[in-house]
Order: sequence, then structure tokens, then C-alpha cells
Amino acid sequence: MEEHRHGRCTNKGTGHLVVRTVQQMTCPFVLFSADFQKVVGQVPCRPDDPCNFLRSRLLDAARRNGSMAFASLQSILERAGLASRDQFVSWSENWRKLAAAGDVEPQLAFFAKEGGMSEEQFLQRLATALGWPFLETSKLTVSNEVRKRVSTKTAFQFAVLPAGIENGVLQLACHNPFDPAMQAAVQFDCQSPVKFGLATRGEIEKALKKYYGVGAETLDEMGAEETIDLELTDDREITEDDQDASVIKFVNQVIWEAFKDRATDIHFEPSEDELRIRYRIDGILHQTPLPPQIKRYQAALVSRIKVMSGMNIAEKRLPQDGRINVRIKGEEIDIRVSTVPTVWGESVSLRLLTRGKIFFGLEKLGFWPDEDAAIRELIVKPHGIFLVTGPTGSGKSTTLYAFLSTINSVTKRIMTIEEPVEYELKGINQIPVRPDIGLTFAVGLRHILRQDPNIIMVGEIRDLETAEIAIRASLTGHLVFSTLHTNDAPSAFTRLIDMGIEPFLVASSLEAVMAQRLVRTICKSCSRPHPVERDYLLKIGFPEHEIASTVFRKGIGCEECRQLGYQGRTGIHELLLVTEAIRPLVMNRAAASTIAQAARDQHMRTLREDGWRKVQIGQTTLEEVLRVTQNEEHVRSLIGAEKGVGS
Ligand SMILES: [Zn+2]
Repeated sequence: MEEHRHGRCTNKGTGHLVVRTVQQMTCPFVLFSADFQKVVGQVPCRPDDPCNFLRSRLLDAARRNGSMAFASLQSILERAGLASRDQFVSWSENWRKLAAAGDVEPQLAFFAKEGGMSEEQFLQRLATALGWPFLETSKLTVSNEVRKRVSTKTAFQFAVLPAGIENGVLQLACHNPFDPAMQAAVQFDCQSPVKFGLATRGEIEKALKKYYGVGAETLDEMGAEETIDLELTDDREITEDDQDASVIKFVNQVIWEAFKDRATDIHFEPSEDELRIRYRIDGILHQTPLPPQIKRYQAALVSRIKVMSGMNIAEKRLPQDGRINVRIKGEEIDIRVSTVPTVWGESVSLRLLTRGKIFFGLEKLGFWPDEDAAIRELIVKPHGIFLVTGPTGSGKSTTLYAFLSTINSVTKRIMTIEEPVEYELKGINQIPVRPDIGLTFAVGLRHILRQDPNIIMVGEIRDLETAEIAIRASLTGHLVFSTLHTNDAPSAFTRLIDMGIEPFLVASSLEAVMAQRLVRTICKSCSRPHPVERDYLLKIGFPEHEIASTVFRKGIGCEECRQLGYQGRTGIHELLLVTEAIRPLVMNRAAASTIAQAARDQHMRTLREDGWRKVQIGQTTLEEVLRVTQNEEHVRSLIGAEKGVGS
């Protein structure tokens, strides 16, 4: 593989030398299959040409391999009588300047204009020179089967239209066949050979509207055939007539798409020259490809969301919070919306909370049978504290909700104080904290205690006052669930003691601490064995005696998982039971490492070890475990003896 400043040259095992430009095209050399039907690769060429090396490599490859033809775009245009050498140089330069300034006119359309031709005339002559068809897209009939070969996203982003299939080869109408990003996207979508035909961008876009069922003004319809009806469940007055229907439709589509892909958050992020929309799915952010013209709709989109969430649309300088309740396909979704002003306009975040259907079952959290049994015993204790620890986004609330759901019954009075109340649980009294009016965790908790609860859930212990009340509650006959921000379970004790709690109180009130993380699970549809080097495994600390018996797996990417190779998440856990062996250590202010060692002596698995076990059963990958346990290096050093254990 050749790394290069302007291009990356990879041989993908197809026998073709593929060169992708990293920067947008300048004056590329283009490598075709011999019949000129397929662009196999290209390489940029500039006056200050730093690409000679790569170009000569390409030339060599083309010469060696008789199945390819090699030509520069300039020579193609020259041969077609579309641009002289000088014209090409000056037009390219002008187009580059415009493109750099944000003009989105396609390169070939710009050349046509410079040459005094319509884009259609220009492309017709280019098609003749290349021996490619010029397609009249308005006269085509595109079947559903053909349409589905190219995703809506790719079709709109690059203005390409799948026109037909012949002997397994997809005929694709495009206005600029030399765009490597387009080629890559199309190849990725259709996974079959592609033949290019030319058509003007305008004509292709018209056809896209027809076949992909959306107006181009809605930019990118991603829900395909679905008509999306977001039913606002509030009595909120929205005068939809006042708003551009396409903007409403677009916002609905974004929310629908996010919901469909199980996204938890949607972010609208403005920058100087674009508006980015990202979804968080299984904890990872994914950018949605959108055409650059979406930037023009930024203000309208933000206003629409603000109207939906009951915010003041005139206020753009201050952060705002709001809420949208919608029903999508019978499912109620609660969306928390917040805006913050940035230098490039308001940035909007939507957090999607599904109501109703969510079922919090312990069995869904990825516990092993021994952990499951231990937890079921813990959560029915009459008193004590059970802490769940981990960073934000590690699924702590979900775990606590699962505990509460499991023990929820008419004979128990359960009260919570949370920030915010993420899910409404039937039969449980949930109180949101409101620091603005003085209702903090500590204040709420103190009042809850006067309400005769059996079980209390405190969203988070983050100060001495809350910690003290929680401990007092547990010592006076209440079972308390809460969370703490520590990386691992053994550190929870020292954290509480550092906050100012007496060690004997910590030792006598805590029943268990569980650290947890979420790892993405391998997509079941495309999971394949994926051998891993032994040296690497040893380096990352995978148990040596398990290597031979483990079939490492990986998702290769498929439609089910949006080509990500992962779908869904599961937990990995480090469950530390506060036994009679642990209590004296806590009481004597033992270091976290000492507690960790004692816990390991009673068979506690560390987060990473638990992760390895989930790799062994093919649920997740080594990368995922490493990703979420990165800050665990110090735990490993804490319990130093790790290496020798078990092997
Ligand atoms: Zn898959």
C-alpha cells in the first residue's frame, strides 16, 4: 500500500489498481477498464505535481495489465473536442477556486458552461468519445429491484440513478463518473460490477424525485417507501401552514430514521460551511451524509424543532430546553431537546426516550448465571446500598431500572430521585431533581425518607451530603440503589471515604458495588470467524490458555447492521460483593488495590476479563472490549498479579 499526500493507492485484491483521491479532484489521470466502461482508478495531477511517482506506478500497472486503458481526463476531453489543453488548465483552475469558495457546481457542468455548451451537449459528446451511453433518464423505467441496488443516501448525495441491470451489471446514470467518492459509495452499496452512462445532474435529480419518492427539496429521504407521520401527542399548537412543508417533512424523516436505527441521540451541529447531522447508535456517533445545500435550511430546521419542542423561536442567544412527545407507528417517544448557541448558529441535540414498550429485564443486561443469581439475592435484601459505577453512557440507569422493575410490587414502596427521570416506571414514585429551585439530590432524598419508602433509588451520589443521607437511609432499614462515577468497583469505597464518610459506615452499609460498561454486540447476520495473531492477544492480556479454544469473530457488515458489523449492545460487569473478607479492609482504609486483590480471591472478574468471556462466546470483539475498558489499565496495575492469575 502506498501512502501519498494526494492519493491512496490500494490493491483491493481485485487485480485492479485503485487510486482514490483524498482531496477533491484536480486534473485526474483516470484508469479505465479496456472498454472504457468502468473507471478503475484515477490519480490527481497538479502543476506542482507531487504525484509523478504514483502516476508512473499507475502507468506501469496499466501497461502490464492489458485489460486496462489509461487516460487523463484532459486527454479524454481533448479527444472529444471538448477542451483544449490550455482551456482545460484554466477551466480546472477556475473551477477549483469556485469549489474552494463553496460553489457546488459539478466540474463537468462548469466545463460545459465555459465551453459555451449546455451540460447535456457536453455530456453527450463525452459519452460518444468514451463509447458510453447517454441516458435519457426521463424515458427510463426503473424497477424497484434496480432502485434498491443503490441506497437513497448515495443516490441523492452524488446524484446517481441506477437505470437497469443486465447480466448482473448495474447500469448507472451519473453526471460525473470521475468522482472517486461516488464510485466508492456506489460500489459499497451495490456490490456488483457497474457500467456508467451519462446524464445531466438536473435530469438525474428529477428522476430521483420520481423513483425515490421525495422532492429534492426534502434533501434526502431515508425512510424509503415509508410515509412518516409524526403525531404530536401534546396539545401544542403548531401552525404547520406557517412552515415550509418540506422542512417539516425533513425533520420528521430525521427523527424517524433515528428511531428506526435505534439511535439514542440526534445532533444538529452547525459549522461555518455545513450543517452536520449525527446519530448516536449503540453509543457511537454516526454522521448522516447530506448534500451541502442543507446548510441553507439550517435556520428553518432549527426553528421547526424549536416550535415542536415548545421553545421560544425568537430567543437565539441563550440555551433552551424543551420536550417533544410524538407517536411514531404507534410507539410513543419522548424527546428531550436542548439548544445551545454556537458561533455558527444554534446547535440542537435531541435525546430519544422510548416510553411504554421498553422492558427492563435483568436477563437483557448480559449477566452470567452466577452474577444473575447474586444480583437477584442482593436486590431483595431489606437494607443496604448497592452501587453501580461507570462513566456516563455506560448504562447505569438502565441497570438500576432493571433492578427496580424486577422487585417492583404492590407490597413495596419504591421512590426515586433522578436527573432527569429517563423512563417512567409504573407504580414507582419518581422525582426529578430541580437544582434551579433548590431540589437537589440531597434535599429530595431527605424528603423521600419522610415518605416511608422501602426502596430508594438515588440517580447519583456526587457529594458528601447525598452520600451521608443515603448511608443513613440504608442503616435505618432501606434498600438504596445509586450510582457513582468511578472506573472500577474497588475504587468506590475509597471514593466514599475521600468524600468524608467514616470508613466504618461505608463498610457496614455497602452490600455490593458493580462497575459496568456497554460493548457493541456483533451483528448476528454477518458474524464471521476472524483469526487474531497470538502475539497481539498476549499483548492485550487475553488469557493465554483460552486462545486455542476461542473462535474470534467479527461482523463483516451487512444491510441489517448498516454495514457496521455491530448491532445492539450488552453489558460487561465487575461485581464486587462486600463480604466478610472485604468489610475489615474497608474499615481499615485499605487501598483499592488491596480490596481488588481480596475481591479477586473471592472470584470477582474484572471488567476486561468479563469482556474477554464475551469475546469467547462470539458476542463481541476484542476491539470493543479494549475500547470501553481503556481506562482500566490502572486497575490492571492495581491488581498487579493479573498476569499470573489463571494461566
Ligand atoms: Zn451485519
